[in-house]
Amino acid sequence: MMTQGLTSAVYIAASILFILSLGGLSHQESARRGNLFGMAGMAIAIGATLLAFTPSSYGLVLGVMAVGGAAGSTLAVRVEMTAMPQLVAILHSFVGLAAVLVGFGSLLEPGAHFTAAEKVVHDIEIFLGVLIGAVTFTGSVAAFGKLQGILHSRPLMLSGRHLINLGIGVACIWLGILFVGADSIDAGIWPLLIMTGLAFIFGLHMVLAIGGADMPVVISMLNSYSGWAAAATGFMLANDLLIVTGALVGSSGAILSYIMCRAMNRRFLAVILGGFGGEASAGSGPEIEGEAVAASTEETVQLLTSSKSVVIVPGYGMAVAHAQHPVSELVKALKDRGIETRFAIHPVAGRMPGHMNVLLAEARVPYDIVLEMDEINADFPDTDVVLVIGANDIVNPAAQEVPDSPIAGMPVLEVWKAKTTIVLKRSMATGYAGVDNPLFYRENTRMLFGDAKESISAVLAGL
Ligand code: NDP
Repeated sequence: MMTQGLTSAVYIAASILFILSLGGLSHQESARRGNLFGMAGMAIAIGATLLAFTPSSYGLVLGVMAVGGAAGSTLAVRVEMTAMPQLVAILHSFVGLAAVLVGFGSLLEPGAHFTAAEKVVHDIEIFLGVLIGAVTFTGSVAAFGKLQGILHSRPLMLSGRHLINLGIGVACIWLGILFVGADSIDAGIWPLLIMTGLAFIFGLHMVLAIGGADMPVVISMLNSYSGWAAAATGFMLANDLLIVTGALVGSSGAILSYIMCRAMNRRFLAVILGGFGGEASAGSGPEIEGEAVAASTEETVQLLTSSKSVVIVPGYGMAVAHAQHPVSELVKALKDRGIETRFAIHPVAGRMPGHMNVLLAEARVPYDIVLEMDEINADFPDTDVVLVIGANDIVNPAAQEVPDSPIAGMPVLEVWKAKTTIVLKRSMATGYAGVDNPLFYRENTRMLFGDAKESISAVLAGL
């Protein structure tokens, strides 16, 4: 129904909208607009594709879209902010699975006649597409399991795991040669099937071998893989827009992975090779000295009101407790008393990149008092009170002091340098990385036990 020229023009328009969307998503102020650009781009892309490649049955396509759309929107409306990372992980797995299915579909029913040279290229596209898709699929399912708490966040350290990975890599190259050299579908399907099985194992093993503290890198890496899987699907289907969109997601995910690695002081290759260098993760916990001292609400109010500068460190527990709104009110109350109050945001606080920024923006906390780790870490010695709200790993001094700790080398917010640190959490439990936190036992630390939302509301009432 649409000429090729018109389809290309519409595809370019959709690509531009996707680029504008990515640009918008890089700042909180413009994120909403970025999302709208993305939605418009996707609507145009789907519409143009339906018109350009007339499907055998519009009814079937629309019916499937209705089912998928209903499931997607119900999930999106119902999902808790704290469960977003799992949702993203499972959505990545769908992209991977789609690439695998399209790969097999395009082998069994090529849909076009190829010359010998074109067939080689098409076979390579299928092989790589299925490979990336299969790794993305099981890797994302494993990441979902870890984030959902179904699987343990501790890394799985199989002996000879590097050999297993190497063996799978070599076998895949050999199977690839067999596949591309096969002269019939019957001869080609076996190497492809065996490789798919091996790639499933590789994806699973790669993510299971990564410790809890390195999960942020895994999430952004799988985000990148899902983009490359989509691009590979685009090659198999000869769809330019899918190639461009996949490449955009793939490369922006790769940049995010790099940023996450830098934030956590990890080598990218070490993380993606599946726990390479993860030996430290099996290390011992920190030596705990001293006793934890509990604080009352009254004592917290008194410490806050007698201070000049306060820094708030939000973490995953603030998200769990939905404490961002009372926290925002607390900031206003402190400001009204002339107390300087700022936020310190660790790059991997919470369970997804930008998690805390999103929560604080939702509670209308002004952006100019929300500072990145690098901007505020040097200010702690001049800070009177630090309120650590549901954070743990990101304020753990063991990262600096215990060389064989799973979080060793990860930059942390140096809250213990402030005059007093008050930690709001429910118990003495460890954080996501499963490492004890010596901060809780420091002389200048007070523990305000309880649900973060209830504790903050009580402090507010006390003010
Ligand atoms: P942590 O998971 O280390 O600690 C959160 C703390 O919040 C827990 O110790 C818990 O203690 C407390 N908590 C839970 N519920 C409540 C509640 N209702 N009220 C008060 N406290 C509560 O969080 P951080 O933000 O410090 O660190 C993030 C961790 O997650 C890092 O290890 C990071 O690598 C990892 N991660 C980050 C991702 C990202 O992209 N940002 C993605 C995946 C993982 P208690 O049970 O005693 O209340």
